[in-house]
Amino acid sequence: MKAHRDILHLVESTPFVDTHEHLWEEQHRVEALAKGRDSKIWSPDIAMLLGHYVDSDLIVAGLPAEDMEKVKGYDLSPKEKWALVEPHYKSARNTGYLRCLRESVRRLYGERDITADNVEKISGLIRDGVHPGFYESILCDVAHIEYCQVNSLEGDPFMETANPELLAQDLSFVAFCEARQVGNFGRAAGREVDTLDDWHAVIDWHFEKYGPRAIALKSQQAYGRRLDFEQVSAGDAAPLFKRYRKDRKSVNEAEHKAICDHLFHYCMQKAEEYNLVVKLHTGYYAGQGSMPMHRLTANAGDVCELLRAHPKVRFDFFHIGYPCENEFIAVAKQWPNAYLDMCWAWIINPAASVRFLKEFLMAAPANKLFSFGGDFMPVEMVPGHAAIARQGIAQAISELVDDGWMDDGDVPDVVERIMRGNAHAVFDQPGKLAAWRAAGTAVSK
Ligand SMILES: [Zn+2]
Repeated sequence: MKAHRDILHLVESTPFVDTHEHLWEEQHRVEALAKGRDSKIWSPDIAMLLGHYVDSDLIVAGLPAEDMEKVKGYDLSPKEKWALVEPHYKSARNTGYLRCLRESVRRLYGERDITADNVEKISGLIRDGVHPGFYESILCDVAHIEYCQVNSLEGDPFMETANPELLAQDLSFVAFCEARQVGNFGRAAGREVDTLDDWHAVIDWHFEKYGPRAIALKSQQAYGRRLDFEQVSAGDAAPLFKRYRKDRKSVNEAEHKAICDHLFHYCMQKAEEYNLVVKLHTGYYAGQGSMPMHRLTANAGDVCELLRAHPKVRFDFFHIGYPCENEFIAVAKQWPNAYLDMCWAWIINPAASVRFLKEFLMAAPANKLFSFGGDFMPVEMVPGHAAIARQGIAQAISELVDDGWMDDGDVPDVVERIMRGNAHAVFDQPGKLAAWRAAGTAVSK
């Protein structure tokens, strides 16, 4: 039997391909140092550790939301920020989000926890740590990540990153599936949008421009609707689209859904044409006080129709559909074109993620899983998340071996697959880098 220690060592020495982040461009972090409050980025202090996900657990524990805004802002000192947060931090300290924070603090700043005594020191180290090249040292040297796939929230639909080798970019297709912002996208493509044909041409233009370089397609439409995209022909959608463009109020809810459903399937045809994996948010909602559980519990059932309708398109279902991860194991087991992604899941619920990984590996082929995505805007939180994922992967696999469900000789292959090999097989990063070069966009190496 392989000892847990050996498995942990193997997992720690294997780099992740990180299939999901929302990282700001590094250059924007550097520029924000000088811009200060005029930048859209939080202040370079403990805001970077408390501002994403941790904020939700703190608010749910009782921190007033307006105090959290002060924590992200530029007016208070780190010590003043900590005084607002500390009582609620104590309440929430055992959640995955807060454990992630402490794991990052340990790895990056050599402290076991944040306290009133070290909050100024840690904040100073965060600020001093922001300089050209700091992403590579945090992501590669500390978190042991090979490269990240980024769904940028700064560049819609696609971020022209300065470093596509480290930060491969998703093409967001959320706006393509709606008729709300057609003007902006039409202007980019040099085209007025009155008809559905016009909008198809604008979508085509974006795929032509970004498709060859995009590592995947990404949509978080599940935050706003069910994933029950019905087949609506262009003939049926065209008059509705035209009417919507003239007068939005003349289109009722069912008609609006028909337009969006048609556009989603149109984008699936483009995904097939450009051989792009389709990443869909499923399951739990970020934030607090907004999640309609009835809607998201329908996700696993709804996606079966997509898998059936588009057998040549590979779908990557995010966040294991938590808390419906069992249904999603059944989906991955049933459909050749379904993949599951543990991005974000390790810190939403570490215990459920360990259980999920054991059950997935006993039920579905091991080539259908991506085991890590940090899902963060601040790069400083990624090492903590990667550490929790490695602890969980090692625990799950050790338990499978100890309980006689996995041969120890199979461990190295499974670890390699789920941490990086599956991502290499499914997402074509070398081809994407070649496309960046062909597009005349600098690639460093
Ligand atoms: Zn995300």
